[in-house]
Amino acid sequence: MLQVAVIGSGPAGVYAAAALTKGDARVDVLDRLPCPFGLVRYGVAPDHPKIKSISSTLKQMLEHPAVRFLGNVEVGTQITVEQLHRYYDAIIVTSGAAIDRHLGIPGEELPGVASASDFVAWYCGHPDTAIDRFTLDARSVAVVGAGNVAIDVTRILARSADDLRQTDVPARVLRVLDSSLVEDIYLLARRGPVQAKFTPKELRELGDLTNADVVVDPRELELDDAGQRRLATEPAMRRNLEVLRSWAERPLAGHPRRIHLRFRLRPVAVLGDGVTAGLRLERTKIDENGSVTGTGSTYDLPVQLVLRSVGYRGLAVPGLPFDQDAGVIPNAAGRVLRAGKPVVGEYVAGWIKRGPTGVIGTNKHDANETVAALFADAPLLQAAPVRAPDGILDFLAEQGIEVVNWQGWCAIERAEAELGRVQGRSQVKITEWAALLRAAADGVPTGSGM
Ligand code: NAP
Repeated sequence: MLQVAVIGSGPAGVYAAAALTKGDARVDVLDRLPCPFGLVRYGVAPDHPKIKSISSTLKQMLEHPAVRFLGNVEVGTQITVEQLHRYYDAIIVTSGAAIDRHLGIPGEELPGVASASDFVAWYCGHPDTAIDRFTLDARSVAVVGAGNVAIDVTRILARSADDLRQTDVPARVLRVLDSSLVEDIYLLARRGPVQAKFTPKELRELGDLTNADVVVDPRELELDDAGQRRLATEPAMRRNLEVLRSWAERPLAGHPRRIHLRFRLRPVAVLGDGVTAGLRLERTKIDENGSVTGTGSTYDLPVQLVLRSVGYRGLAVPGLPFDQDAGVIPNAAGRVLRAGKPVVGEYVAGWIKRGPTGVIGTNKHDANETVAALFADAPLLQAAPVRAPDGILDFLAEQGIEVVNWQGWCAIERAEAELGRVQGRSQVKITEWAALLRAAADGVPTGSGM
């Protein structure tokens, strides 16, 4: 029986574990957080309960008898890749894309400029983000980027606290949303309406908000040559265009907030002396190679908060190769490449394998491909000596690492349900590391050994 460590318990990691259980393997799923499910817990917007409900499927996969969850274990710092190889026949890294891309413009370091991923982490109650990180005393906010994350943060900024009261967002986040001064949210796309990355379903939701009008300038929906070409090759893009056109014709209802969807504008500087006071935007055009270029025509948009939502980026895992340009671990169909050659025993899946693209389900196919490669290598992997399954637990205990196992996670879930009960809500996230670890430890039955 192969012993495999999966590093990361987001969708890619869990799908990889599930695929491994279909063969002859025992699997440990390690995560640096005490909680499983990665971006399903800490990325999917709280007002998307249907997408979030995928966690019950992931939960069942992690409850498979051949799978163990080892939370609160950070690979690269608390245990190295080299040490992992002593305890496992193979490792699959599914660490995702943990950091965000920057704009690289003057003023980006001003307070009042933050990443969308930080904002998402805040409203999702991620323990690495301080719960007082955002105050929402800006009247105008720019969201830079035209992907589904930009749509998510725009929607949450536009919502009222009441819209989210029955979700698991922390009470502090609800209070900030309740006292939010935000009136105008500008979603800024550097390309035209048929080149935006967001999907029609997500786009449409903006138009259904009870608290905000959507403002679209019909002139910005006119297609240039690049737009016409795009529409001819990607007819699906028409759906976004149709939604946008319907909003351009729709009278405003006079809601307290406005979402302005703007196209062919790129930020060139954040303005302000010590605080963010605006964003300088340059009109763009798309050249014959499909690249965005500036026209030299600029204007200043007064905003007090800028959220850049221009994509995530993978983080190198110490001890493994890394492609700095692509932000991924170089691989061939999931086999890690060292000096261009596939390595037997080292694999990747998910965003760290292919980059930050696709929906949750994309990771299933992706993980299956990786696990198929691993099983194809099984004869070579099984040449290694037989390993004691608990060797890793002894090692972690010797290092004084407080592993949060499945029972510990279930105890966190119970504590969050209790927090919800106290607040008159169904479930509320615990947002601090210490409190999560306390909740996990309190629930572990005495003498369970883990
Ligand atoms: P994304 O889809 O790659 O979008 C990034 C956006 O940033 C693009 O519009 C890109 O424009 C723009 N951009 C990049 N660099 C820029 C710059 N320097 N200045 C201005 N704009 C810039 O990334 P994402 O929104 O982070 O989403 C990541 C993945 O998660 C996607 O696959 C997404 O569909 C998925 N996701 C799905 C959901 C959902 O299904 N509900 C929710 C959230 C996320 P260009 O196109 O011009 O490069």
